[in-house]
Amino acid sequence: MKLTPYWLDTAEPSGDYRRTPIPENVDVAVIGAGFTGVSAALELAKQGATVALLERHTVGWGASGRNGGMATTGLAIGFSTAVKRYGNTRAVEMFNEYNDAIDTVEKLVGDYGIDCNYSRYGKLSLAFHPSHYEGMLRSQELLATLADHHVRVIPKSEIHSEIGSDFYHGAMLDPMGAGLHVGKFVHGLAGAAANAGAFVCENAGVTELKRISGTVHDVHTTRGITRAKQVLVATSGYTGGITPWLQRRVIPVGSFIIVTEPLSDDVVNRILPNRRMASDSKMLTYYFRITPDNRLLFGGRARFALSSPDSDVKSGEILHKAMTELFPYLANTRVDYTWGGLVDLSMDQIVHAGIHDGVFYSLNYSGHGVQMATHMGKKMVQYMAGDETANVWRGIKNPPVPGHFGPPWFLPLIGAYAKVHDRFS
Ligand SMILES: Cc1cc2nc3c(=O)[nH]c(=O)nc-3n(C[C@H](O)[C@H](O)[C@H](O)COP(=O)(O)OP(=O)(O)OC[C@H]3O[C@@H](n4cnc5c(N)ncnc54)[C@H](O)[C@@H]3O)c2cc1C
Repeated sequence: MKLTPYWLDTAEPSGDYRRTPIPENVDVAVIGAGFTGVSAALELAKQGATVALLERHTVGWGASGRNGGMATTGLAIGFSTAVKRYGNTRAVEMFNEYNDAIDTVEKLVGDYGIDCNYSRYGKLSLAFHPSHYEGMLRSQELLATLADHHVRVIPKSEIHSEIGSDFYHGAMLDPMGAGLHVGKFVHGLAGAAANAGAFVCENAGVTELKRISGTVHDVHTTRGITRAKQVLVATSGYTGGITPWLQRRVIPVGSFIIVTEPLSDDVVNRILPNRRMASDSKMLTYYFRITPDNRLLFGGRARFALSSPDSDVKSGEILHKAMTELFPYLANTRVDYTWGGLVDLSMDQIVHAGIHDGVFYSLNYSGHGVQMATHMGKKMVQYMAGDETANVWRGIKNPPVPGHFGPPWFLPLIGAYAKVHDRFS
């Protein structure tokens, strides 16, 4: 069994950027080469700016190469909660931004001819409890009335048309949800950015941001210093001590994935006959999909722990048990890959983007970043050029996590709460 992400193992990097020289001066230094960073670097280079994309490891090493490959509709908090919290107009604006974000992914794939198995497979949300199914019926109505967005709700009696499992109490299907091979996508974007003139610098961890004046910084890296007129932090769940203000606002939660051996068409047609992007309504959610080569990818917050080889193996075992609980006919199916990555939750599970102490940032995608991180990379370029309205998330309060100054000591407490919540919900 491989402990590397399936997506990175089955995608060709667009180049070896480990020795790209660090330029002395740039218009913009972008920190982190995930979707946010590569998308921003591509947009900046396309507009003629000089840009250094600085990545501690390699392109896509973070969550962008480790996720479920689902670019789906809707906010992490769900539409009904958004309406209650922010009111109708703002909730619709936020909801629509996710639809626009999928369009952004689709357009980039088309414009740059990125061969990454992108398709609108549809998103299947599965009700773990009868009350969650009732909530889906209410969401369906709310989405249609307020956002003119139309989804289908599937009762338990018809659920086998969508999933070969008796585990759930109904489902909601949104045909606009998409899926893609995220390894091929992130490498494709990085290649496009490099072709457009961006300095893609791998193996270039940023160690210090030294403010010169306003938004101008000396960006110290493990391979040299660049002076940047603007800095964009795109470090998501891997945000560290160079930006302590942001670090206190990111809860890095491990999410883990297993991928099976390739399955026969018959088995795939039984599991997910329409190849939807599926996730359930538990707090400790399971999410799963079929990969382009007919494997089942099955993920979840198996344990509230950070990712490490040991932790990934333990989580893989828990996920295998969960997978066979849902699909007992997979009991003897081999698992070929298991890995983990960090999801960047915030206190309110809303995206936070803006500027603090002269440094621009966009993060806190809370597990919904395949589309939104890609979109925000592009949007932040407009925002950094002075267009405030480009950033839908502006003005939302961004409180720090109490007592959080370094490693997230409180993860086991959140995990215990989530387990109890799922048991009694
Ligand atoms: C297991 C898992 C499953 C997920 N599934 C889905 C899904 O199906 N759908 C969905 O929409 N979202 C999903 N997500 C979330 C999504 O993957 C992320 O929101 C998104 O990839 C974030 O992209 P990013 O570019 O902001 O950050 P990342 O891709 O995390 O990139 C941040 C990069 O910053 C680099 N970095 C950090 N510090 C420094 C430094 N000091 N110097 C230089 N580089 C630095 C890191 O090495 C890293 O490569 C999932 C996440 C995980 C972990």
